[in-house]
Amino acid sequence: MAVTENQTPTLSVDLLPPMEFVQRTERLRAMMQDASWDGLVVTNLTNVRYLTGFTGSAGVLLVTEGELLFVSDGRYRDQSAAELQASGVEIRIEIVASDPDLAIAKAALRAGVRSLGLEAQSVTWAAQRRWQSELFTTGDIAATDGVVEALRLIKDAGEAARIRAACAIADEALSQIRPLLGDGPTEIEFGLELDSRMRKLGADDLSFETIVASGPNGAKPHHHPSHRQISEGDLVVIDFGALIDGYHSDMTRTVAVGDVGEERANMLNVVLRSQQAGVEAIHPGVTAAEVDEACRSVIAEAGLADAFLHSTGHGVGLDIHEEPRVSSRSTAILQPGHVVTVEPGVYLPEFGGVRIEDTLLVTEDGCDRLTLAPKDPALLSV
Ligand code: ZN
Ligand code: ZN
Repeated sequence: MAVTENQTPTLSVDLLPPMEFVQRTERLRAMMQDASWDGLVVTNLTNVRYLTGFTGSAGVLLVTEGELLFVSDGRYRDQSAAELQASGVEIRIEIVASDPDLAIAKAALRAGVRSLGLEAQSVTWAAQRRWQSELFTTGDIAATDGVVEALRLIKDAGEAARIRAACAIADEALSQIRPLLGDGPTEIEFGLELDSRMRKLGADDLSFETIVASGPNGAKPHHHPSHRQISEGDLVVIDFGALIDGYHSDMTRTVAVGDVGEERANMLNVVLRSQQAGVEAIHPGVTAAEVDEACRSVIAEAGLADAFLHSTGHGVGLDIHEEPRVSSRSTAILQPGHVVTVEPGVYLPEFGGVRIEDTLLVTEDGCDRLTLAPKDPALLSV
């Protein structure tokens, strides 16, 4: 079957709304006033990127009441200067040949920091011991958790626009490539076509390794694409996303190839109703656990509770999986600006699986679906 070659023009990030880097630091400093520490060392590179715009693989940030210091090595001298200037944040850059932590520690001591927060999720035990015994012996070291991540929960207009653009590329790539499923490609072949189409449409990269799980392979939620040939009667679970300026999209569609029979058609129908119930449950003030329950109850009513093997969803942003988690145990309360997925699924061993997933932006009165590819089996089947 022919695949259309029309491609939307390559996206220009410059045309998207700017991101509010300056306000992010201001919000972080406001949080610091209530904290038990008066300096924060940001070592998680995603958090560094969020606060400064730096996209390299080596950089540490010190945030104090009066100063913002970024330390990297010579590989990033020019790149960090350009990216940090573009972010508009007032920040001092120090390029060192080695030991960025030492430069950060000296600056913290100079600034009179008494209690220094380290990011517990990204500092190794060895590094923490060194901070305590060698680098910062005159003050306290405090373990912090989720400080910058809390700021990242609410997406600004620039972030939402980037996630929306990444979702639009995934939508368009699927719509162009989907007819190929009727030609009997292997999972790997179909996945490669989808990946390259997203790149041609302007994706900076893939959001994560594309999942193409056909027939019995669909029973494994994170199946790695194989040489299995997709054929008549298969359900094909396709989970994929595009990356734009660091921001991810995440979408799953399950496509029926030809006549899949009554039991598989019923699975598709149950998961579609479950997913729609989850999307409809999303509005400000609802707990993530309630969204999980909205999905889970539909699948339980169909007698398939044990086949729903994972939680309902997760936040999406600079990380593909971030807060807020959408699970039965999550205490998160959804607010406008959160971006989450709703992705229920059922998986029957040696038989197959179905998952349907959207990326959604929580709005003042509900949510805005960012992944717009059709979900209805009647519109998706080949
Ligand atoms: Zn996904
Ligand atoms: Zn997901």
